[in-house]
Amino acid sequence: MRIDLHTHSSCSDGTDSPAALVRAAAAAGLDVLGLTDHDTFAGWDEARAEAEQCGIGFVPGAEVSCRLAGTSVHLLAYLPDPTDAELSSMLERIREGRNARVPHILERLKSLGIELTPEDVAATSRAATSLGRPHVADALVAAGYAADRREAFDRWLSEGKPAYVTRYAPEPAEVMGRVVAAGGASVLAHPRGRRSRYVLTDSVIGELADAGLAGLEVDHLDHDDAVRQELRGLARDLDLVVTGSSDHHGAGKNDHDLGCCTTDEGEFARLLERARANAERSGRATPEPFLP
Ligand code: AMP
Ligand code: FE
Ligand code: FE
Ligand code: ZN
Repeated sequence: MRIDLHTHSSCSDGTDSPAALVRAAAAAGLDVLGLTDHDTFAGWDEARAEAEQCGIGFVPGAEVSCRLAGTSVHLLAYLPDPTDAELSSMLERIREGRNARVPHILERLKSLGIELTPEDVAATSRAATSLGRPHVADALVAAGYAADRREAFDRWLSEGKPAYVTRYAPEPAEVMGRVVAAGGASVLAHPRGRRSRYVLTDSVIGELADAGLAGLEVDHLDHDDAVRQELRGLARDLDLVVTGSSDHHGAGKNDHDLGCCTTDEGEFARLLERARANAERSGRATPEPFLP
């Protein structure tokens, strides 16, 4: 079984529609696909319907934006009740912060002599429910200012670069509490990638584990072999599920091909078990994973 539990569609900053993403997953030989758009459940229905057509498994999720000690941290939420009012309003507030940030980024760019309009960003974000810097990056590429998203981030959009603007994000413990209450299971995304490595120390991860964290995304391109070994040991000590995933963004992110990192079948079963236990405890009508 090849299981990839972290991917993005055009509902956030991926480039494939949910249905096209599922077809690409089937073509890549995946047996189970997790859809985890940033801060939205918008792609679930389309992806599930296509997964049933293609005969591959589907796990609905989201990658929730958090902030800890001023640093961006991502939490993967699997199988929560999408009608949970508290969780929905939390995601809505995060998405509002995403929208509100764009005009400020455009002002910064303007002061650097780069003229982009909200319409330029609307043209690249199209169907997205959740707007992100990658859409601004795509607009910079379309206008000829950068060759690809990476260059746009490196020159202007990454933290510390001249057009970087921060946005609202809650703390991971708060998000995790909501996810658990909504009957879902939480997994820390790429915990030792980019900047999150500085704030997600062993003791912080230990505290999150005590508070109901289900797993760690260990196998991810942001982690080298030494980091993966370290995280595997930590997961064992804390009784956390180990996942692996591509973090695929379609054509939007180099290298992260579907299935480039995968989740072990036994670990996947444990993750579903954790979600089931949380669903039972919360008494919520959580979505069933589609497993052919
Ligand atoms: P945002 O969600 O607006 O905070 O933007 C973060 C997203 O930008 C991440 O989820 C990645 O998809 C993308 N991203 C971050 N850094 C880079 C980079 N250097 N090159 C390409 N995409 C990036
Ligand atoms: Fe992304
Ligand atoms: Fe992420
Ligand atoms: Zn991601």
